[in-house]
Amino acid sequence: MSHPNPVSPVDLHMHSLASDGTMTPSDLVQRVHAAGVRVMALTDHDNTAGLAEASVQAAALDIQLIPGVEVSSEWSTQGIHVVGLFIDPANGILQEGLSRIMAFRDWRALEIGRLLDGAGIPDAEAGARAMAGGRMVGRSHFARWLVREGYCADANEAFGKYLGRGCKAYVPSDWIPMPEAVGWINAAGGSAVLAHPGRYKLSGTRLRALLTEFRDAGGIGLEVCSGSQAAGDREHLGRLARQLGMAGSVGSDFHGPDVGHAAIGHLLTLPDGVEPVWDRAGIHIH
Ligand code: AMP
Ligand code: MN
Ligand code: MN
Ligand code: MN
Repeated sequence: MSHPNPVSPVDLHMHSLASDGTMTPSDLVQRVHAAGVRVMALTDHDNTAGLAEASVQAAALDIQLIPGVEVSSEWSTQGIHVVGLFIDPANGILQEGLSRIMAFRDWRALEIGRLLDGAGIPDAEAGARAMAGGRMVGRSHFARWLVREGYCADANEAFGKYLGRGCKAYVPSDWIPMPEAVGWINAAGGSAVLAHPGRYKLSGTRLRALLTEFRDAGGIGLEVCSGSQAAGDREHLGRLARQLGMAGSVGSDFHGPDVGHAAIGHLLTLPDGVEPVWDRAGIHIH
């Protein structure tokens, strides 16, 4: 039986073990290939350490790998993720910026551990760091450790009870301002795209304000199709992109076969009249 959802040959948002994905970059590229996707971007949170390994496997399987990153930033006290596509990962301005975020993540892990300890859950920081294997440490690693140790039934409960905004072990995020993230991406020759616009739960007016500031900062597009969005978001976001003269991107936000619901490539077709971000960037995709 064929799958009811068409597979897109392009998927420009996914994670590997270099951040909070569960697959090695190499295994991820193999899965992308098996899913029938031909053009992929690896967009790990706040670092580009997985790109070298991914590019070796991509070359072997004739997958077009677009170098990417998903930068954690802030706009008006709201955490905002900015996807950088077609970046030069060797760029010094980008890497210097990312290293600042990674340092904040290290400090935050210590704080989350301290707060969990205060809530009667000892050793979480060491546990999360072990789950991260010395790579980027994030709340997903704490969530997986809380589940493995039996404190929570699943990751969703871990975020709902401890790690989410306003919860017991929530550390107010101190990410860099959104325009700085856009600036680093542009400095690295990349295209900045607003990640999963539906996830921020903003009103229409606020989303429009965010997108206008994002565009003024040098951002060129938004994810019109995202793995986790609600029905109707695609049309709504496509309309916004057209009205604001912004390009559209497509990305599943895949983290691994057992993480969330986003499958590689599914439901990622841009609505008519939305200019694809790769055309706007002048990148030929095959
Ligand atoms: P961080 O960047 O370390 O603050 O963690 C954010 C990441 O946590 C996101 O990129 C998701 O991968 C994951 N995440 C956020 N909310 C949830 C949730 N409710 N359940 C599972 N994972 C989540
Ligand atoms: Mn993540
Ligand atoms: Mn994100
Ligand atoms: Mn992501």
